[in-house]
Amino acid sequence: MAEVLVLVDHVDGAVRKPTLELLTLARRIGDPVAVALGAGAGATASVLGEHGAVRVLTSDAPEFAEYLVVPKVDALQAAFEAVSPVAVLVVSSAEGKEIAARLALRAGSGIITDATDLEAGEEGVVATQAAFAASYATRSRVSRGVPVITVKPNSAPVEPAPAAGAVEALPVSFGAAATGTRVTSRTPRESTGRPELTEAAIVVSGGRGVNGAENFPVIEALADSLGAAVGASRAAVDAGWYPHTSQVGQTGKSVSPQLYIASGISGAIQHRAGMQTSKTIVAINKDAEAPIFELVDYGVVGDLFAVVPQLTEEINARKG
Ligand SMILES: Cc1cc2nc3c(=O)[nH]c(=O)nc-3n(C[C@H](O)[C@H](O)[C@H](O)COP(=O)(O)OP(=O)(O)OC[C@H]3O[C@@H](n4cnc5c(N)ncnc54)[C@H](O)[C@@H]3O)c2cc1C
Repeated sequence: MAEVLVLVDHVDGAVRKPTLELLTLARRIGDPVAVALGAGAGATASVLGEHGAVRVLTSDAPEFAEYLVVPKVDALQAAFEAVSPVAVLVVSSAEGKEIAARLALRAGSGIITDATDLEAGEEGVVATQAAFAASYATRSRVSRGVPVITVKPNSAPVEPAPAAGAVEALPVSFGAAATGTRVTSRTPRESTGRPELTEAAIVVSGGRGVNGAENFPVIEALADSLGAAVGASRAAVDAGWYPHTSQVGQTGKSVSPQLYIASGISGAIQHRAGMQTSKTIVAINKDAEAPIFELVDYGVVGDLFAVVPQLTEEINARKG
């Protein structure tokens, strides 16, 4: 069967969820062959095998940590040449998109970024993307070379599908450009204990209606009851109520969770651009005319300070 390359996103051997979602999609197209790079690469094999990887190509060369992006492109290209895949799948993170674009250029292939679904068509892989602030869905396939496709987190379920997961060392020789940009220091982000915003299955966001940094714990409590990430509108972020890294929207992060809960957010087009592909959208807003209600699956017209704490209490009670 045709093989599909999947670039693994992992932290010291712990595979991140979006990679397991890629394996679900890869299995629709062919046999997934995972490429795991950096410290702990070998440790990824059992989880990858449980989710359908027939082979896991690994390299733990120090260059992956010491230099930005290009060593990974060199390695992915080495895997590409060794495997001759029918498609290459990469997670749609900033780094993933850069790696994918560089590989596509080197391979003379077309690239599709930010896909939200994939299927095996008769003439090649067909990718679905959301366009114009997600008011349109487009389906496309590359017309040249082997498709290189980046896929947004939360686009597919994680499905166990046991396969061999056989580990093979990937020989990589780094080109001159690989050492062009050295990492000079790393500072771990202060952990909130919550999932990463772009990967979270549930996102709870607050907007101007939250009315102050001191009120954001109301949003955080709901998020924590659901194991969700916390997002914010630009109005809330610009007011200094929540960190810029939590901004959802056109000039913030793009999220596509299973559930998005917007509290005190009006639903401006620039906010929608970052969350409209969420599977289920819930809004809490005291203004029944707020534009956010045009796109919700469930809407609550009410004061968020009355609604959100009750919701949190109810969820926590049901968990008990
Ligand atoms: C180039 C450009 C890029 C932009 N990029 C982004 C972006 O990335 N992300 C983004 O979010 N915005 C972005 N914006 C800004 C965007 O246009 C809006 O101004 C912003 O999204 C509004 O944020 P908001 O919904 O929180 O505030 P508002 O529009 O002021 O809405 C607040 C809402 O809260 C409701 N409310 C108030 N009090 C309560 C309460 N107690 N209970 C319930 N509801 C209440 C109100 O009814 C209102 O609907 C961008 C704008 C531009 C021009």
